[in-house]
Amino acid sequence: MRLVFASNNAHKLAEVREMMPAGIEILSLHEIGFEQEIAETGSTLEENSLIKAQTVWNHVPKDIDGVFADDTGLEIDALDGAPGVFTARWYSIPDSTGQCTACTGALPEQEIFRLNRLKALRELEGKQNRKCRFRTVITLLTGKPETIQVEGVVRGRIAEEEHGKGGFGYDPVFIPDGYDKTFGELPAELKNTISHRAKALEELVKLLDC
Ligand code: IMP
Repeated sequence: MRLVFASNNAHKLAEVREMMPAGIEILSLHEIGFEQEIAETGSTLEENSLIKAQTVWNHVPKDIDGVFADDTGLEIDALDGAPGVFTARWYSIPDSTGQCTACTGALPEQEIFRLNRLKALRELEGKQNRKCRFRTVITLLTGKPETIQVEGVVRGRIAEEEHGKGGFGYDPVFIPDGYDKTFGELPAELKNTISHRAKALEELVKLLDC
């Protein structure tokens, strides 16, 4: 089975390839010659993951069995579920006082990740309740009339400060429940069995005919 993973995020691509069972070949957007940026204009993770899968499905070669896309949100209890759908560019969203960490300008990926983590630490400064969850929604399109959507969740808490250099994004400030280390410190193999993306992929694989 040949599936396209509709993401340009090299970290996610590596994780997904690691997690998928043998027998499912994962192709990147680059490998199918799809180079355009997809605007995530939805107001929910479900909408954004569908937009990404649909846009790529319209461009895939005939010998591809399906396209799947994920969209992930960090949902912080004390912030009523924020940043949610704005997780990727939270640093550029003004806070309640109208300030943002860096409101304009194109930044390198690692700098965006750093500013986002800084924002998480700042927003939770002095707060006792640091509970949160990562939620991933995956949409799979195969050319059949039905759209498949699955979800994966990992609960945890935001650390008091950054720890570890592994993973990507918010990993150095996210401590999964049952552990006292961040995803940035825990081995990638462990993250890939307990993460939001791992759980969503597990659900997806159950539904695949392979
Ligand atoms: P996306 O929309 O699925 O690309 O995810 C939105 C943002 O969530 C990313 O830009 C990252 O900042 C963050 N994110 C997604 N997955 C992870 C993860 O596994 N660890 C840490 N941060 C993540």
